[in-house]
Amino acid sequence: MATVEQQPPETHNGLAHSDGDIPVENPATGEIVATVPDLGADAVADMARRGRAVQPDWEAHGFDGRARVLLRAQKWLMDNSEQVIATIVSETGKTFEDASLAEISYAGNAFGFWAKQAPEYLADERVKSGQLLVKGKKLILRYRPLGLIGVIGPWNYPLTNSFGDCIPALAAGNSVILKPSEITPLTSMLMAEGLRECGLPEDVLQIATGRGETGAELVEHVDMIMFTGSTATGRKVAEAAARRLIPASLELGGKDPMIVLSDADLERAANFATYYSMQNAGQTCISIERAYVEEPVYDEFVAKVSEKVRALRVGVPHGPGSVEVGAITFPPQLKTIEDHVSDALDRGAHVLAGGHAMQSGGGRFYEPTVLVDVDHTMKIMTEETFGPTLPIMKVADSEEAVRLANDSPYGLGSSVFTRDTERGEQIARRLQTGAANVNDAMINYTVLELPMGGAKASGLGSRHGAGGIRKYTSQQAIVVTPRLALKSEPHMYPYKKRKSRLLASLFKFLYGRGKRD
Ligand code: NDP
Repeated sequence: MATVEQQPPETHNGLAHSDGDIPVENPATGEIVATVPDLGADAVADMARRGRAVQPDWEAHGFDGRARVLLRAQKWLMDNSEQVIATIVSETGKTFEDASLAEISYAGNAFGFWAKQAPEYLADERVKSGQLLVKGKKLILRYRPLGLIGVIGPWNYPLTNSFGDCIPALAAGNSVILKPSEITPLTSMLMAEGLRECGLPEDVLQIATGRGETGAELVEHVDMIMFTGSTATGRKVAEAAARRLIPASLELGGKDPMIVLSDADLERAANFATYYSMQNAGQTCISIERAYVEEPVYDEFVAKVSEKVRALRVGVPHGPGSVEVGAITFPPQLKTIEDHVSDALDRGAHVLAGGHAMQSGGGRFYEPTVLVDVDHTMKIMTEETFGPTLPIMKVADSEEAVRLANDSPYGLGSSVFTRDTERGEQIARRLQTGAANVNDAMINYTVLELPMGGAKASGLGSRHGAGGIRKYTSQQAIVVTPRLALKSEPHMYPYKKRKSRLLASLFKFLYGRGKRD
């Protein structure tokens, strides 16, 4: 029986006014685990006012002051990891391991990384110039926090993808309003409480619980929007940001291809195909969503993957080691998965493992599924499925594999398996994706030093690396002329014939000498 734990709106962000409540369901059990307020336009405007009011003080904490809070939060997360994992599992229905490996470890690393790297990535840069008019002047490139950042996140990784993007925004000296998915708001709320305990001043990070309308309202109030979610919603956010002339960073959907060449270590390739298509029940933007395998090793690869996938246990996660594949978090996603599988079967595909939705303990699940005899007339090969499915297609050679891998509106991640790593790297360079892994998959996401972003319809901008924090700042160019300077400079009034001719000759001398092709 469902238990409803009423949480009055006053307990969240101190906001009394909301447009009703949103129940939060555990997708693995069907239980309602909490309710959160559905914040309306007034509440979002109020939060924006409060976020702006406290931002200058947070900026004035400096890198060291902000790093102290972030490093305390890193320790807090490790001390409270069981509670955070339980919260993630309760609202996503994912396994303990998917929460621990892909969320806790990510955020633990990210707190330390941004605390350490923010001062380096955002340090003032002294610039040298060949421009004659600025000889002797001091030239500085400075990164200034934008002010109030809006972060909108999806439901598949409430800690990594919703909350995770707040960390560099805060490290840069901004205040932040985070709008988590209405499906998974509890982790963000818990993290905000944790940060307050660690000394983050009131209102520097606020959580705007609500539905899509709350997210749309947020875009109307902030100085920059960091959005992670579907390509369809991303377009709407980009349009709203363009109207307001604010920057938007968009991390969107994917349909990541895996290429297996005939010289690959097949056991490794099969293990990676199984893990990175089924991990988090396939609900990862950079899941392996389709595989292309060279003809000579196709049968052996398919046999290995099918056997491994059939061995996976699916169901309600009851702590560590209980199941490999958890629930389907977002109710409509189950329909999409069923639709893609039945469309493929109608067009001639065959199922070698799984192929059905499962009801277990009141929750929503889909059997880990392997499909063969697939092609690009099928949705399962061309649209984002976002479920525990792996369609495997036979290809004649690497050329056909590259052509099919690039035959997609998406371009998030990709992987190539071969023992010839030089050839693998050459193929990786030809894939139209924001990241490409050779003999690995998805691992690039954990490397915070590398940019993570999508090509084509998978996004604009990136997270991680220097660009992943500089996007939360505006660049300011500062030019300082020393105290002992001329009263006037040669290019200024009055304009005189002789001086103008001299300057024209000087330009010719500087830019017109030498031979050209
Ligand atoms: P959605 O696009 O449906 O929602 C994302 C967020 O946007 C949610 O918080 C949603 O609120 C909110 N939202 C909905 N409508 C609007 C609007 N008009 N204006 C502003 N915000 C709005 O995505 P999902 O939550 O379904 O997430 C799954 C998608 O995210 C997949 O496509 C996946 O590939 C992608 N993703 C991409 C990643 C990347 O790094 N590239 C990482 C993780 C996921 P609500 O939920 O309350 O409706």
